Amino acid sequence: MGRGSAPLSASTLVIQTAFLGDVVLTTPLLSALAAQHGPVDVVTTPVAAPLLETHPAVMQVIPYDKHGGDRGWAGLGRLARQLRNVHYARAYLPHRSLRTAALATLARIPIRRGFSGGWSFLYTEAIPKPRAGHETDRLLTLANGAPAVYPPHLRPTTEDERAASGVWDQIAQRPESPFVALAPGSIWGSKRWPYYAELAAQLATAVPVVIIGGQDDAGLGDEIQRAAEGGGGRRRVVNACGKLTLRQSAALIAKAAVLVTNDSAPLHLATAMGTPVVALFGPTITEFGFGPLRPGDLALGVDGLLCRPCSSHGPPQCPLGHHRCMRELTAPAVVTAIEELGALRRRS
Ligand code: SF4
Repeated sequence: MGRGSAPLSASTLVIQTAFLGDVVLTTPLLSALAAQHGPVDVVTTPVAAPLLETHPAVMQVIPYDKHGGDRGWAGLGRLARQLRNVHYARAYLPHRSLRTAALATLARIPIRRGFSGGWSFLYTEAIPKPRAGHETDRLLTLANGAPAVYPPHLRPTTEDERAASGVWDQIAQRPESPFVALAPGSIWGSKRWPYYAELAAQLATAVPVVIIGGQDDAGLGDEIQRAAEGGGGRRRVVNACGKLTLRQSAALIAKAAVLVTNDSAPLHLATAMGTPVVALFGPTITEFGFGPLRPGDLALGVDGLLCRPCSSHGPPQCPLGHHRCMRELTAPAVVTAIEELGALRRRS
């Protein structure tokens, strides 16, 4: 829903303008808050906005293009005035940032609840963020007394399902035919596992493979597809990178028997869609709180590397140059993990 286009507003506002994966992991908090106060309004990035527009806990999504049309204090002031006119009763602020704190304060929202530290002196209620546990549970502590069991959840539309089925139809040999989805991209270069092409080649001898990602990943997807199809035979690999919206991609992931992904947003999309996951962790580790959530899902990483983890997000390149955390994670090890998961057997 575009800014200002909705006549109805909730009394509760959530401001979450962090990365896409963080927004997906905030959906349990949205559900918990909706259970307490009714559906909420959410300020989020233009990229993440479509994911939340169809969420049952959300009444209205207000896009905030903090790096584009709304950048700087002028953009922030404009949005704050718009929010002030709504007279929200309370704001929840899961993202610790100056912009978030300033926006809620300038919007004069009387109750501003977030995590202590940083700019929390601008909040009216600051609580310590748990250091351990999964990020979804840590974020849920913002919702006082909320039931703890709210999994991440997304709701693609019928049109999204149709678009996803269009890709599926290219590969399916029969209805409900299982396929493996690969998500090879990541904003952070050191988080990209280098053997997706080898993995796709191995998998595609037995099962269709779909490569998922955004427009930025299309070239990488082409490379993987070409390398995987190079051996000929009955290999079926479709590069869907850049061909689907985020919600359509979520709908396609929901149809996959398993998703193989780096430590990046598609991991959380799969969690939200109930799809089994094999997640490949290089410079980061699951103890940071962003690993798979569903029982049985697998996270693979190289043990015993003294340099690992080297960064909370993953640097653009390996600072040591060898990138052993990813290069020593082999394609056969990932195939074995997929077999261990048993997802292909369950969905065939
Ligand atoms: S320093 Fe170590 S953990 Fe970091 S990217 Fe390089 S190999 Fe991976």
